[in-house]
Amino acid sequence: MVVDYCMATPKIRDIQVIETAPVGLRLTVVKVVTDQAGLYGYGCGTFTQRAELVRPAVTRYLRPLLLGKEVDRIGDIWHAGMQSSYWRNDPVLNNALSGVDLALWDIKGRMAGLPVYQLLGGKCREAAACYVHAGGDEVAAVIASAEKLRAEGFQYIRVQVGVPNQAAYSSGGGRTYGGGRAPAALGRAATGALHDGPMFEPAVYARRTLQMFEACREKLGEEIELLHDAHERLPARLGLQFAKDVERFRLFFLEDVFAPEDIGYFRLARKLTSTPLAMGELFNHPAEWGELVRERLIDFLRIHLSQVGGLTPAWKLAALTEAFGVKTAWHGPGDVSPIGHAANLALDLACPNFGIREFVAFSEPVQEVFPGAPVSKGGYLYATEAPGWGIEVNEKAAAKYPFGYGESGERQRLHGGWGEVRRRDGTIVKQ
Ligand code: MG
Repeated sequence: MVVDYCMATPKIRDIQVIETAPVGLRLTVVKVVTDQAGLYGYGCGTFTQRAELVRPAVTRYLRPLLLGKEVDRIGDIWHAGMQSSYWRNDPVLNNALSGVDLALWDIKGRMAGLPVYQLLGGKCREAAACYVHAGGDEVAAVIASAEKLRAEGFQYIRVQVGVPNQAAYSSGGGRTYGGGRAPAALGRAATGALHDGPMFEPAVYARRTLQMFEACREKLGEEIELLHDAHERLPARLGLQFAKDVERFRLFFLEDVFAPEDIGYFRLARKLTSTPLAMGELFNHPAEWGELVRERLIDFLRIHLSQVGGLTPAWKLAALTEAFGVKTAWHGPGDVSPIGHAANLALDLACPNFGIREFVAFSEPVQEVFPGAPVSKGGYLYATEAPGWGIEVNEKAAAKYPFGYGESGERQRLHGGWGEVRRRDGTIVKQ
């Protein structure tokens, strides 16, 4: 019997947006509903710093374009959505498109009765090794945090130390703060700055971080893998020096030692040091990573899946990087929904050139909203065998945590956007 497959293919009946912030970070989920009863899928379109813009990009622009299309034509739908705005690859469009794209992969998995990693060819490994964040105001606190995490089974640890009276990135301490996201300005009397806001001086940070690495190797030994994120805070020449200076500490990788605007410096860095380099968290456009990959100027690509438009482009990108010996290390902080993490994990398991994944703990409220999220154990993240992403979004629970939930002060005023950090003289710092 010949099956008329086209007639049987479900079509897109509706595209909805679910906004939720169970831990105060604004997460955007796109739900694609088909014309087949009970068949739908979820995708991650989280752009937490401009979260409110993703909904209209989905509902006003992608929805009318895509209603009625057959759900099994994922690549075609992706290209149609990308071309529709004429000017392409802006972060809002890419996130909106990612929401739809991941939802279609979820639907395909549900139709096949398979987890998405199986649709990508199946496992290359049993689970994905994770690196975890250790931070503190003081070096001793960083080491204590790293020792605790090592005892839990983590073998890869990112270490970040605070800088007294400065806004160091992601040290997690009280006197300093991470990324301008929860600033408590100390004022010029404490910082010595020509302004009263959060202050950061890159050379001071670089010296302090080198002291931290010295102590980490002395106390933690040689066997632990150490990572660090400079978070594009260094001017390019200082970044070059820093990459050279940390070489003797044998990092697993040094991340974002240059800002995206300074990627031309990677060619120089390659000539000067063997420190493994990770880059790409802020990339949106293929033109940004092509040269770095083809010329083997970086070791790990840190793309944020939804910022490049979802699984469809990222899977191809994984194949491109494999051909040039570059490993994957998809960006995976708390401002990626568990659906986005599940998509990262599908690639982690199915791609031979997996490098490492970023660990994030799914707190109780997150698990309440996203039941079925992947499970971590002993420093690894494991996929479930449920079809698609294996996650059912609890929309009632999601509604309990609207955008703005848990926010206060500057972050509330900026609707989840980041505030300002400035040099001592008042110059804006990239963060
Ligand atoms: Mg980073």
